[in-house]
Amino acid sequence: MTLLDAVVVGSGPNGLAAAVTLARAGMGVRVLEAQPTVGGGSRTVRVPELADDLLFDLCSAVHPMAWASPFLRAFDLGARGVELVAPEVAYAQPIDGGRAGLAFRDLDRTAERLGPDGDAWRDLLGPLAEQWRQVTALALGDKRTVRGMLAGVSGPAALASMVGPGLRFGSAVLEQGGPRWDRRFLTEEAKALLTGVAAHNITPLPSLGGAGTALLLAALAHADSGWAIPVGGSQVIIDALVRDLEAHGGTVETGRRVASWSDLPPARAVLFDTTPATALAVAGDRIGRARRAALRRFRYGNAAAKVDFVLSGPVPWRVPDVGRAATVHVGGTRAEMVIAEDTVANGLHADRPTVLVSDPSVADPGRVRGGVRPLWAYAHVPAGSPQDVTDEVVRQIERFAPGFRDVVVGSRCIPAAEMERHNENYPGGDISAGAATMWQMIARPTSAPDPYLLAEGVYLCSASTPPGPGVHGMGGWHAARRALRREFDVRSEPSLRP
Ligand SMILES: Cc1cc2nc3c(=O)[nH]c(=O)nc-3n(C[C@H](O)[C@H](O)[C@H](O)COP(=O)(O)OP(=O)(O)OC[C@H]3O[C@@H](n4cnc5c(N)ncnc54)[C@H](O)[C@@H]3O)c2cc1C
Repeated sequence: MTLLDAVVVGSGPNGLAAAVTLARAGMGVRVLEAQPTVGGGSRTVRVPELADDLLFDLCSAVHPMAWASPFLRAFDLGARGVELVAPEVAYAQPIDGGRAGLAFRDLDRTAERLGPDGDAWRDLLGPLAEQWRQVTALALGDKRTVRGMLAGVSGPAALASMVGPGLRFGSAVLEQGGPRWDRRFLTEEAKALLTGVAAHNITPLPSLGGAGTALLLAALAHADSGWAIPVGGSQVIIDALVRDLEAHGGTVETGRRVASWSDLPPARAVLFDTTPATALAVAGDRIGRARRAALRRFRYGNAAAKVDFVLSGPVPWRVPDVGRAATVHVGGTRAEMVIAEDTVANGLHADRPTVLVSDPSVADPGRVRGGVRPLWAYAHVPAGSPQDVTDEVVRQIERFAPGFRDVVVGSRCIPAAEMERHNENYPGGDISAGAATMWQMIARPTSAPDPYLLAEGVYLCSASTPPGPGVHGMGGWHAARRALRREFDVRSEPSLRP
């Protein structure tokens, strides 16, 4: 049997980013994927029991990092025919009383609309949006090395250019991640608008991890390409990666679940785009005892239960401008979301759960077919919840969009407990592949100096490594660059250009 240079287990965005980086450096690479189709959390599928023609994003739908991630910027999706369209309103947050916070791509419009909180919003997010390259490099860095924290920021003064944005980002995280978070804004609209983004981490609020996510994503909403929706669905990002991999000699095999080392073809390096638990199950006896013990301490987090809807028309939001956003955080006020997230953290279902809604047709009208459109939603629930949350999600949306029920012509729920069936990287429905607390966002999967290297020739490259969840490919890129240097003595960076 021919010895491959590298095998990548898992074809999510991180696995493919690793495979592309290795193939671009001339390595022979094979990707093994358990599922029948490629793409992991970035797949777009047909669901015939719901609608023949519609395309549904199985997991990710909204892609602020598809243009901002240093890996995907270097890969240049645009030049590969991937169209990223940013709606005029990146995200919205309706609250009771016919009110809503709206994050326009245009910072000034956002500030104007937030009235008495306009200046406070601008002061917090304006500088971060202006210096989004540095902020993104920090947030999506490897959390260990200068090289890994400078990705995408070049020039002789690169390091110096990080200091100001780094301090600004850090102090904003401390403010919005702690007891002082309520001091900045006066209105419920502004408070709720930022909290909806912080809630992405599915942890109690306020939290440093939630604040880090909120400030990165909120800054990107006002920078360059905003919160982009890929025309045709998230799968187009994956397809571009696979095309490049194959053009450079790599291969992908689907329906190839790796359960033990003997399932792997002989290779000089193996990169796991999986959970640490899977890497342990497959390669545990190659990993040192201390690292094994540390990997076993990795904690998985609370969960999401997904609901896909088919609608006969747009969501009838009470505040019509909410309908200009492709992403709507449906959780009510800051105080309501705090209660909802605390309830989930205590292992219970919230009466009024935090719900994320994405309406891709707002940015990509081609998603409307035969008079119907897909609507993507998920609710935060405790880990392993078997509950069908369709009623709760409908009730929450209906609060802010009376008449929503009347436009629903079909739906299906994927309870958190069933999430693993289509992607085993989300144990119990943990869509972050590991609790997104501040500690675990940094010490992911362990606090080792190299978070990717597990053993000689064995790497972890999934969202369970820095920088964590999201479709950015950075975990894969960081791991592959290390493998190239360590296993293959390749010192120069392979170009990722088309
Ligand atoms: C409901 C939901 C909504 C989301 N929304 C967004 C969003 O809007 N924007 C965003 O940026 N991110 C979003 N995310 C998160 C994002 O999808 C993930 O963070 C991202 O896909 C992680 O990429 P990855 O390559 O690390 O892993 P994954 O994309 O999870 O891919 C891992 C792959 O490995 C395969 N695999 C696992 N174990 C094995 C094995 N033993 N053998 C072979 N193959 C294996 C899996 O089948 C899978 O294909 C969402 C996730 C979910 C679930």
